[in-house]
Amino acid sequence: MKFTTFGDKFTAVSGILQLMDDLGRAVTGGGETIMLGGGNPSHIPAVQAHFRARMAQLLADGGAFEHLIGDYDPPQGNPAFVTAVADLLRAAYGWPITARNVALTNGSQTAFFYLFNLLAGPRADGRNPKILLPVAPEYIGYVDVGLTDDIFVTARPQIDFLDDHTFKYRVDFDALPMTDAIGAICLSRPTNPTGNVLTDGEIERLRALARIHDVPLIIDNAYGAPFPSIIYNDVTPVWDEQIVLCLSLSKLGLPGARTGIVIANERIISAIAGMNAVLSLAPGSLGAGLAHELVRSGEILRVSRELIRPYYQQRAAQAQAWIRAEFADLDYYLHKPEGAFFFWLWFKELPISAAELYARLKARGVIVVPGHYFFPGLSEPWRHKQECIRVNYTPDAAKVRAGLQIIAEEARRAYAAG
Ligand code: PLP
Repeated sequence: MKFTTFGDKFTAVSGILQLMDDLGRAVTGGGETIMLGGGNPSHIPAVQAHFRARMAQLLADGGAFEHLIGDYDPPQGNPAFVTAVADLLRAAYGWPITARNVALTNGSQTAFFYLFNLLAGPRADGRNPKILLPVAPEYIGYVDVGLTDDIFVTARPQIDFLDDHTFKYRVDFDALPMTDAIGAICLSRPTNPTGNVLTDGEIERLRALARIHDVPLIIDNAYGAPFPSIIYNDVTPVWDEQIVLCLSLSKLGLPGARTGIVIANERIISAIAGMNAVLSLAPGSLGAGLAHELVRSGEILRVSRELIRPYYQQRAAQAQAWIRAEFADLDYYLHKPEGAFFFWLWFKELPISAAELYARLKARGVIVVPGHYFFPGLSEPWRHKQECIRVNYTPDAAKVRAGLQIIAEEARRAYAAG
């Protein structure tokens, strides 16, 4: 049997495949593995209680459950939920949004597959635009979704050192390859893998660039406000017809429901609905059903602010204290954790590559993600790519602490061996 080029492309060993494979093995196999590699949200009991109660209501309400599982939604997604999302965002931020500006997808990962292939790749006018990522490192999940190769361009970010062991990436606007060959700009805010949150000033400059070049600015808000609000500094969410804002119910605690939410102008929303129809007939109804009442009542804002954000913020602070204690003698830098739930650790001048460090950690039962996967579009050699790892700090606290200790030991050993 032979696969097509499509088959070859989507079955090649990719960063995301390695990650999901490690994750699957850690969950199903060796009980001793310390899994700090994945992106699974925590099971927060008070949040899960909301969804359990909602499910019980659906089951008790004659007919609601049968409708939820027994009927296809329209390709744009469940109309009542889509309307509730539009109403919520209009009320929270005053954005001029109606149900015609909202579409659901089977997870926001699917939305990125749609959007990137809608806006980058061969076009009828003979051009072949690309997606500009203003900052690399950027989300590993973008890397392989293009139907054509090399759909990203980016530039090295500026690095601001905030103290002896903390840094922050900033967009290097002078270096950005923003030309007519760009079909869209995309960034995750907060950023997976770094926990960076681009400032309001950076977003304003990117909006201006998007406007001048008349291309969409895609903001991946999987961790952002108003939900799940895993964002620790005060920034202003923005939307206008040029912005495609991608939300998700996953980090709220519903990754199994696979629900992505796209907020965009009507042309993009009908394109998403069309792609849903072709590729999956309709997006799944479960996430919309479970979250509808939370969104309609606005309760989702309180749950995010009072339950979800404090939980992750406390976990970040605790793990950061362990890092300070365990890593004190190492030449390490931590990206300032401003949101999401990962630490991006930079071991300056590490004598081994991040891939080798990953392998040594894996041999000791600790799974992290080596940093070099997170630089889509940055083909130039840059040692920094090989000096960073991503660590999820939300698994069981004792495991995180033990994992951090082992990471410190292995980094120490690598530096000592020179
Ligand atoms: N965007 C970012 C930045 C993410 O970290 C993730 C998942 O980890 C996604 C998008 C995709 O999430 P989902 O497809 O579960 O909505």
